[in-house]
Amino acid sequence: MTKFSDLKLNPKVLKAIDEAGYESPTPIQAGAIPPALEGKDVLGIAQTGTGKTASFTLPMITLLARGRARARMPRSLVLCPTRELAAQVAENFDTYSKHLKLTKALLIGGVSFKEQDNLIDKGVDVLIATPGRLLDHFERGKLILSDVKVMVVDEADRMLDMGFIPDIERIFGLTPFTRQTLFFSATMAPEIERITNTFLSAPERIEVARQATTGENIEQCVVMFKGSRRDREATEKRKVLRGLIDREGDKCTNAIVFCNRKVDVDIVAKSLKKYGYDAAPIHGDLEQSHRTRTLDGFREGTLRFLVASDVAARGLDVPAVSHVFNFDVPGHAEDYVHRIGRTGRAGRDGKAIMICVPRDEKNLADIERLVQREIPRIDNPVAQKPEEEDASPPVSPEEKPKRRRSRSRVKDDANETQPQDTPVNIPETVVAESTEPPVPEEPKRNTRGRSVGRGRPANNDRNDNKVVGLGDHTPEFIGLSFKERCAV
Ligand code: AMP
Repeated sequence: MTKFSDLKLNPKVLKAIDEAGYESPTPIQAGAIPPALEGKDVLGIAQTGTGKTASFTLPMITLLARGRARARMPRSLVLCPTRELAAQVAENFDTYSKHLKLTKALLIGGVSFKEQDNLIDKGVDVLIATPGRLLDHFERGKLILSDVKVMVVDEADRMLDMGFIPDIERIFGLTPFTRQTLFFSATMAPEIERITNTFLSAPERIEVARQATTGENIEQCVVMFKGSRRDREATEKRKVLRGLIDREGDKCTNAIVFCNRKVDVDIVAKSLKKYGYDAAPIHGDLEQSHRTRTLDGFREGTLRFLVASDVAARGLDVPAVSHVFNFDVPGHAEDYVHRIGRTGRAGRDGKAIMICVPRDEKNLADIERLVQREIPRIDNPVAQKPEEEDASPPVSPEEKPKRRRSRSRVKDDANETQPQDTPVNIPETVVAESTEPPVPEEPKRNTRGRSVGRGRPANNDRNDNKVVGLGDHTPEFIGLSFKERCAV
């Protein structure tokens, strides 16, 4: 078996690896580090959790240990699809380069340009960025990319989903032709293949898992669930989620709960909290500082349940997640692979439990086709007696059922200047009714800024006819035949 000491890494990097407690390189590391150190292009096909971040950061640090950065001219560039992933790569750099004097800047949305400009002005060895933010800096004339010697594209398949490929192509064009490229993707869609054929030069291809397969150490299962009534489905589904969590008991030390829509991320997190579960939401509408705080809490173990959307959770490195709950079946089969890849990382065991409602059965079939296996069905932990539903805690007046407007698609902003989330599979006219606190929504406004479209039609405000039907006072003529009525 390959040892880190066989890999010709800088001794100070080896020291940091040792301190991180890594015993031996993972397959992607053993495969990618040697060619990267030789200056070759690398095409790594690996899902998250395989140790791929270190497979490019370790050789980069080794290569960058020699030489110095010039003002506004970073020597290396790492492109990530989301802020969280970029922040995580930055953390990895800090961990592995702690015995070296390398400088880095993180260019992500939600951080002031001024602060970032100051760092770039001083000269950085490593620039870690989301594509949109990087191009913003470039267009402001603050950044020169002609000294980039190594460029990394991380999670390229996600970049594709999020519409970043044109930006990536542009950034490739702004860096020197002679740069070294390390390119990572969990899957090789045709568009990704095209990019790699265009911009990589005779890359060393390292594939550590079959395309879009799921880790063998992750136990997967699904509960088929149908609400007792359509308007109760959402509430009952949350009850099923609680039942599933409870059934796992102490085995569930911490978990990520995935929802397809941001609005459900908020509702599910609030609901879990209300029932005494330690949960918090994370999605693109939350302030960056808030997201960071929540993530830190989850990483440190002070938060047990992270309720997340796909984009917010993409690439999150939380080493010891025992469970992933798919509150919704993802609309894109590949998102399933990414979601459940949050558990069972770096060889640990994990469990992924999904709830499937009838309208998601087609998506479930797509997932099973992609992962080439049938996901075992398990019993619904909640006996579906509608009258028992949500018996406690009591429902407060503000939690009375409210009809919310349907939404078609929800975007999640990983990067404020970019097209954002993967379109999710949401029926065009879902009307969710909930006995739990709905997320406050901005009233819809017409072009003159007036609230529209909520509650009853406007003329109901004037027409206060509350009684519908005839009550006890049926007029006599109703009981007569038509002929008799005419005769009256
Ligand atoms: P990644 O796929 O880069 O997100 O890494 C997944 C997790 O594996 C991270 O928590 C890393 O700290 C951890 N890791 C990376 N390389 C190794 C290694 N060689 N041995 C043990 N853990 C590792």
